[in-house]
Amino acid sequence: MPTQHPVTPGGNYDVVICGGGLAGQTLARQLKLNNPMLSILMIIKSEMPLAWNDFKVGESTVEISAFYFSEVLQLQDYFKNNHYKKFGFRYFIGDSTGLPASRPEIGLSSYAPYDSFQIDRGVFESDLYFMNLLANVTIISGASVKSVALSDSGGLHTITYQEDDGKTMYEAQGRWVVDASGRRCLIQRSLGLQEAPETACNATWWRVKGRLDVDDLVPREHTYDDYFMRVANRSRFYSTTHLMNKGYWVWLIPLASGHTSVGIVTTEAIHPFDTYNTYEKSMKWLNIHEPVLYTHMQQFEIVDFLKMKNYSYGSKQVFSTDRWACTGEAGLFTDPYYSPGSNFIAFENSMITRMITDDINGEEDWKPRVAEYNDFIINMNKWLTRSIQSSYTYFHLDIVIALSFIWDVAAGWSFICPRMFNSIYLTREATTDMKEVTLRFFSMAYNVEDFFNEWKQLTPNNYTFSFIDYLSIPFLRKIYDRNVKKGKSTEQLKAANEQNLVDIEIFVQCLFWIALEDVYPEMTDLVSRKPWLNAWAITLDISSWNTKHLFSPDTPPADISETYTQLKSLFINRHKSIAAHVDDFNYSFK
Ligand SMILES: Cc1cc2nc3c(=O)[nH]c(=O)nc-3n(C[C@H](O)[C@H](O)[C@H](O)COP(=O)(O)OP(=O)(O)OC[C@H]3O[C@@H](n4cnc5c(N)ncnc54)[C@H](O)[C@@H]3O)c2cc1C
Repeated sequence: MPTQHPVTPGGNYDVVICGGGLAGQTLARQLKLNNPMLSILMIIKSEMPLAWNDFKVGESTVEISAFYFSEVLQLQDYFKNNHYKKFGFRYFIGDSTGLPASRPEIGLSSYAPYDSFQIDRGVFESDLYFMNLLANVTIISGASVKSVALSDSGGLHTITYQEDDGKTMYEAQGRWVVDASGRRCLIQRSLGLQEAPETACNATWWRVKGRLDVDDLVPREHTYDDYFMRVANRSRFYSTTHLMNKGYWVWLIPLASGHTSVGIVTTEAIHPFDTYNTYEKSMKWLNIHEPVLYTHMQQFEIVDFLKMKNYSYGSKQVFSTDRWACTGEAGLFTDPYYSPGSNFIAFENSMITRMITDDINGEEDWKPRVAEYNDFIINMNKWLTRSIQSSYTYFHLDIVIALSFIWDVAAGWSFICPRMFNSIYLTREATTDMKEVTLRFFSMAYNVEDFFNEWKQLTPNNYTFSFIDYLSIPFLRKIYDRNVKKGKSTEQLKAANEQNLVDIEIFVQCLFWIALEDVYPEMTDLVSRKPWLNAWAITLDISSWNTKHLFSPDTPPADISETYTQLKSLFINRHKSIAAHVDDFNYSFK
């Protein structure tokens, strides 16, 4: 085991990192990979290494965080050897009294081309701790930062900390100070930068010993052959599984340490926290809302239990030209529904690394980028939090939640993924080149979010499905293949960005027509014509079609028939026979 380097109380460092959870440890690694000569002090309240299988939430990764861990932090082999490869997201929707096999399912049928992982967080953070020690990061664990005195005159920042024996105070100086103290939010609180969440959402989570597999809720009988045969190896175990219904989702995540992580996440307005905020209450809650899972869980031994009330929050500023920055939950936190926590860490750490590297190299041009970096992180947090948390109210509506999921992944792969895979957020030139298209996308996205909220009020929820393998929808697969890809030139990125907006605009047209057929089935004439729309103005409020200029688009029409057919054919009307459904479908393109 490597020995710690002696700590100099009152020493000076290029960077002082307060906190050493996922955000702090990955930042230290990234900084050292970039510049091994950088002097870094990391002060961590928790005693390191953590217990071998210490329980920390945040296990599931998606393409962005997987790219960051594997490629930016060069941990590809480490992940392959120490953590599970993830079998994508999986959602079982609506009526929870039946078996998963009888609920509409969205998921993958085979592994996605780009690997992501289920991380055992306690294991990962302890392993990072040893890697960072070996890279000569000075680490003091079992010590709390008590205050951070920020210099606004170009001088050094002063960080005061105390070891857990409570006896001695130390002062360290840093040219840069990065707050990675998680929900302690040292800098945010002292500068009054935190913003309260718009919506209250809460969670409890715990681990059980052994393999809790959603497929074990379904008997291995011929009746369920379809259910088992539609996924690779007849197993969904390695997915991040969501069992969901109005106002909540319950996660199941497998961990390489031999445990399964289970969590309940709800919006307070529908499932108040005090109905499940202890382990006993959580089990009682499961018995009411997910009885099939509850019954199966009786045979599992609980390992630990944690909870969090009101988990999301925003911020007014996370980076400063005065050489301080916040990363991870020390800055802000969105909603965990799409596992974006590590994505934020990936972007924040990469921006911080870029600012610090430029500053230490004596370059000044990082300063004008700080405002853009702040805008990107803060606005992404606002957008995601708002759009995810409003969707909790339609988690039980088959067609609405399915198309909202497809919209979210199409948007994420098109406009967020390429930024990480090609580092385009790091240079002004690339972001400026792509800004106009990206802004047009976001103004459309806010309207689409309102559209889903209108739709949820009006839908009779007649349309349903058995299984949507989202990567096998050709238009979505094209978006994935185009964007989940590294090594593009700026020209290629620009071209892809423009094509993404074209594809997304077509998708939004289809979304409108499918929703219209669902809500106003009598409008057959209009639906059969499907005139090209102003995709920035879609609404189901007929009285505002004219004022919003819905039928006066300022973009040239494109052929939507292929995408429409791909999307519409995912659903069947539960009140009609298959033959009638096919008739309807043909009518749409007469
Ligand atoms: C319900 C839920 C589910 C989630 N699921 C996912 C998921 O599936 N995937 C995903 O990517 N993310 C997920 N997240 C988010 C993820 O948990 C966070 O992004 C991540 O844990 C944040 O890491 P961090 O390093 O910022 O904070 P932490 O991991 O909390 O680390 C904080 C560090 O600061 C130290 N510290 C605290 N106070 C002080 C002090 N005064 N002085 C010195 N050190 C201090 C602590 O000891 C610790 O080392 C989820 C979050 C929630 C709430």
